[in-house]
Amino acid sequence: MNDLQVTGLVKGYAPGTPVLDALDLTVPGGCLAAVLGPSGCGKTTLLRVIAGFLEADAGSVTVAGRLLGGPGVHLPPEGRRIGIVPQEGALFPHLSVARNIAFGLTGRERAARRARVTEMLDLVNLPGHGDRMPHELSGGQQQRVALARALAPEPHLVLLDEPFSALDTGLRETVRADVRAALQDSGATALLVTHDQQEALSTADLVAVLRQGRVAQCAAPQELYHRPADPWVASFVGDAVFIPATTDATTTSTATTVMGRIPLAAPAALREGVVLLRPEQLRLAPASEAVAEGTVTGIRFHGHDALLTVTVDALAAPLLVRAQGPVPARPGERVGLAVTGSATLHPAP
Ligand code: ADP
Ligand code: MG
Repeated sequence: MNDLQVTGLVKGYAPGTPVLDALDLTVPGGCLAAVLGPSGCGKTTLLRVIAGFLEADAGSVTVAGRLLGGPGVHLPPEGRRIGIVPQEGALFPHLSVARNIAFGLTGRERAARRARVTEMLDLVNLPGHGDRMPHELSGGQQQRVALARALAPEPHLVLLDEPFSALDTGLRETVRADVRAALQDSGATALLVTHDQQEALSTADLVAVLRQGRVAQCAAPQELYHRPADPWVASFVGDAVFIPATTDATTTSTATTVMGRIPLAAPAALREGVVLLRPEQLRLAPASEAVAEGTVTGIRFHGHDALLTVTVDALAAPLLVRAQGPVPARPGERVGLAVTGSATLHPAP
C-alpha cells in the first residue's frame, strides 16, 4: 500500500531555528489526511520536503516502502511519484484543459495519453471539458483540473497545499466534496494542508495538528474533536469550554465540578484538572433540570445556530453554550444550564 511515513523530520531556514522539529507522521495508504496548523507553522515547508523541493536537515520520508529522502538519499521531485495541487494559479494558462492534464504523461503512446485524460476528466466530473482553456473555467473547475493533472501519472501520493482557500465560501464546500470523492475513487494517498479547522474535520479521514514543528495529535476527526490530546488542541479545533474539576480514586469515570458530576470519556488518572466540553454539550434548561445558573453576557448569531456566553457565578471564565433555532435568551437574562454527554479531563493549563 502507498503508506506515507515521515520520521524525525527536521528542517529550518536559519541555523538553530528549526521550522520542523523532529516531526513524525504516518498516513495509511489510500487515506486522505489533513495537516492542520496556524499560518506560518510549517505546513508548506513539510509538503516541500516530502515533494523533494527542499532537502531535510535530518529525518526521513518513505512512500510505499520506498525511501525518498533520508541520510544520504535525496530523490529529485520527478522521481518520487508524488502529485501536487498548489494553492492557486495551478494551471498553465496557454494550454487547454486536456494538455494541462496530459502534461505529466510523458513516455506514453498518444492514444494511451488521450484515454488517460478522458478518464481523469470523468474522475473529476468534468467530462467533455478537454478543449476548454483554463480562463473559460470557474475557480472550482480549475482546481478540479489541477487535481486531474496531479492524479494523471498515477502518483503514490498527492499533496494539496490549501487548494480551496481562493474559492468563495459556497463553492468551497462543493469543490471540497468533489475533490474528496475523486481522491477516494483514485485510491491515492493524499495530504491536504489547511489552516481551516472546519475544512480539516469535514474533508479528511485523519487530521494531524501541527504545533511548534511537531504533530501535536493525529486522529480521526471525531476523535480529535471529542478527545483532544490537550487543551491547546481542544481550542484549536473548535470552541471549547473548560471547567475546573476533581476526581477521586474510587470513581474515576466521573469528575466533580460546580456543574455537577460529569461523566468522563476515559477513566481519569488525574485527581485535579479541567474538563473539556463542547458548547453543544451545554443547553439552557428550566430550574428543575439545571445544574448551574448564570447570566447571558454575549450572543454570537451564526444563522444555523448561536453561541451564547454565559457567566456562572462560581466560575472565573464564562461558558459557551450553542443553541439551535431562534436565539433562546437575551443579554442580561438569568438562565439555568444543563450538561449532556461526556468530557475529557486535562491538567489545568
Ligand atoms: P505555513 O505553510 O504553515 O504557513 P511555511 O512552511 O510557509 O508555513 O513557513 C514556516 C516558517 O518558515 C515561517 O516562519 C516562514 O516565514 C518561514 N519560511 C518559509 N519559507 C521560507 C524561506 N524560503 N526562507 C526563509 N524562511 C522561510
Ligand atoms: Mg503555506
